[in-house]
Amino acid sequence: MEFNAYAVTETGGKLKPFSFEPGELGEREVQIRVEYCGICHSDLSMTNNEWNMTQYPFVPGHEVVGIIEDKGPHVKHLDTGQRVGLGWYSSSCLHCEWCMSGDHNLCPSAVGTIVGRYGGFADRVRADATWVIPLPGEIDRSAAGPLFCGGITVFNPIVQHHVRPTDRVGVIGIGGLGHMALRFLHAWGCEVTAFSSSPSKEEQARALGADHFVHSMDARALNEVAGSLDFILCTVNVDLNWNAYVAALRPKGRLHIVGAVPGPLALEWFPMLSGQKSVSGSPLGSPATIARMLAFCARHDLAPKVEVIAFDRVNEAFERLESEKPAHRLVLAQG
Ligand SMILES: [Zn+2]
Ligand SMILES: [Zn+2]
Repeated sequence: MEFNAYAVTETGGKLKPFSFEPGELGEREVQIRVEYCGICHSDLSMTNNEWNMTQYPFVPGHEVVGIIEDKGPHVKHLDTGQRVGLGWYSSSCLHCEWCMSGDHNLCPSAVGTIVGRYGGFADRVRADATWVIPLPGEIDRSAAGPLFCGGITVFNPIVQHHVRPTDRVGVIGIGGLGHMALRFLHAWGCEVTAFSSSPSKEEQARALGADHFVHSMDARALNEVAGSLDFILCTVNVDLNWNAYVAALRPKGRLHIVGAVPGPLALEWFPMLSGQKSVSGSPLGSPATIARMLAFCARHDLAPKVEVIAFDRVNEAFERLESEKPAHRLVLAQG
């Protein structure tokens, strides 16, 4: 059976229909019939070969929701007909120190769903069963795809760094990642401050769960929140006035950056010492943390805010992601 996908054949090219023969299904792999696939900024970066690891023809798509239609003989915990999700990673070695510790997302041999393999802008996609996670029935399937990349990227730090419901937290950026962070942290019980360079996003930020809004280009407004936050999650991929955000932290506070900022970071170190503060980063999350996030979403009736677009309008959707920087996720739907 041929898989029907959308691929770019050269750097910066347009997506065009592309069919390929997938070969034999691996013993530990599952084959997913794609229903929905979110569009992540990393799909754009990979399309343009910004990270020098794109192989053409390139099929983007790593926020997949679909139905398992085939599985290898060693896959025991998943069944055909089951609705599942697949995110940035599609396999990891399962025997290194990190996989054995449950930190599969830190595996040095982890393989990206769109790195050296064909992703989810397709009618079908395959992955190692470890990274294919059942989707709870309570979660809207058309909105769930972005949880598997953007969602877990902002959920994982909350778990890793033991953010507490009594904490006062900040979220920088109200885009694909930031809007999910606002929903999670609000449901987690925190007092949430949204930081955005667009004052026009205040209303949206408050609707997503922010208690306070700070216009990040206003130095005086930033100054006013000095020493007030326990945890700040930065979701943007641009260089910022990091020292101002470190200053916004309380003692023992942490600035955690999940956006691919160009950096390097020039931090004044004295405030880091005197306030015992931390600056950190993290990639996505493990399969167990993804399952935990999904259970949390089901319990609190949370889902990303999405706009569903037909697969054949994928080029238009890509352009809008770049030009409009929407405060929600665009999701492609199979007809
Ligand atoms: Zn992504
Ligand atoms: Zn490993």
